[in-house]
Amino acid sequence: MTSPPAPLLDPSSDDFRQAGHRLIDWIADHFERIDETPVMARVEPGDVARQFRPAASEEGRSYDSLIREFETAILPGVTHWNHPGFFAYFSVTGSKAGILGELLSAALNINGMIWKSCPAATELETVVLAWLRKALGLPDDLFGIINDTASINTFLALAAARESLALDIRGQGTTGRTLPLLKIYCSEQAHSSVEKSALALGLGSRGVTLIPAGETFEMSTEALAEAIATDRAEGHLPCAIVATIGTTATSSIDPLEEIADIARKEGIWLHVDAAYAGSAMICPELRSLWKGVEHADSIVVNPHKWLFTPIDCSVLLTRKPEILAKTFSLVPDYLKTTDSAAVNYMDYGLQLGRRFRALKLWMVMEYYGLERMRSVIRAHVEWGGRLAALLGARPDVELLAPQVLSVVVFRKIVRDRLGKIDDEASEMASIELVERANASGAVFLSTTRLRGVFAIRVAIGNGMTEWRHVERILDFVEE
Ligand code: PLP
Repeated sequence: MTSPPAPLLDPSSDDFRQAGHRLIDWIADHFERIDETPVMARVEPGDVARQFRPAASEEGRSYDSLIREFETAILPGVTHWNHPGFFAYFSVTGSKAGILGELLSAALNINGMIWKSCPAATELETVVLAWLRKALGLPDDLFGIINDTASINTFLALAAARESLALDIRGQGTTGRTLPLLKIYCSEQAHSSVEKSALALGLGSRGVTLIPAGETFEMSTEALAEAIATDRAEGHLPCAIVATIGTTATSSIDPLEEIADIARKEGIWLHVDAAYAGSAMICPELRSLWKGVEHADSIVVNPHKWLFTPIDCSVLLTRKPEILAKTFSLVPDYLKTTDSAAVNYMDYGLQLGRRFRALKLWMVMEYYGLERMRSVIRAHVEWGGRLAALLGARPDVELLAPQVLSVVVFRKIVRDRLGKIDDEASEMASIELVERANASGAVFLSTTRLRGVFAIRVAIGNGMTEWRHVERILDFVEE
């Protein structure tokens, strides 16, 4: 008896092969003409969604028609993070090598929850993180794991910090009993992911003390020591200190060595958020910026920010993997294994399923090599300095923070008749500058507020950026 034909999803490779070749060509062409593409999407809310039918196709469609729709309906709504004129937030790079790594990862579609579920995914992750650790000049005894984002990695680290207190939170939980108020300390310039972690961990906003940052936006260690002493006197329990190396607004650097001293003396978990600036530490001459990092209990670095790796790829390093495992390891029967020598990454976080992110990081690190990546990062830092110097020399510009690494923060200024800066008029002029620059399609700048003052922020970090792209910012200031 012959069986009826199986309803295969993809009966032949032909369409895939053809469309795949065409898409690789499309991507290569896209990069070649990226300069003519506006950085920011020029759409209004609803413009993209309106172009799609109310229900998915019943019959399926050809790749040809999908590529056409991608170009006409989707692409106009894309803000091009992978554009050399992208200077907003933290500029990133989905490098060509990274794209190929992603492609292979999608093709294999593994789930690296335990070693056995894909030995290569687990072992490559261990290998590339050992390379990364070495490339960053970090101690050998750090355990590493790749997750999606710095926010999640900071959450995991702070969960471990909470578990390291002798409160048996894992066993007893936080409700139905009396616990002291647990406290996390970070600078007022720290990323919001710290407070979000506190919310998720049941510490509440009350559990986070924002330590004042000084003139140059670096955490005040006197204020930190004082806050800890006051909390202890009031019966609260310090849980963790988060130091930021490269804050979001200005890339300021918290004084890590002094903070590490306090953490050590007080016996408090020290987490270092180097989500952006960490990648720059592949350049040995920049490592003085995070002197003291060797004392950290946990560190987060995002290769998807400044190490040319496509989003998402965030690395958590810790000296205390056993506490991370104590916090999160929970092995159901169907995942029990006898491979005692193997790492099962599911034991070190919340998620079970894990993408093969190590593949793209491996491809990026090995294809470009550390020396090429260093030279690109060095150029970004140098251009940051050059841009700050040129802006700082202008009478109609005020630099609002010291230039650190590749971040420059400034505003356009307007003075009153007495020569004093008029904040309101300066804000209007700065908004006008940003809107004009962004509407041009040549660049994308983002904005923030520093102690209430409206600020324009430039972050250089895309691997295709050249000085001529950065120079365009000066043209807009000049106009
Ligand atoms: N930490 C810092 C210093 C950041 O600037 C950011 C985001 O820009 C984050 C953490 C959060 O990063 P992610 O998007 O990977 O969660």
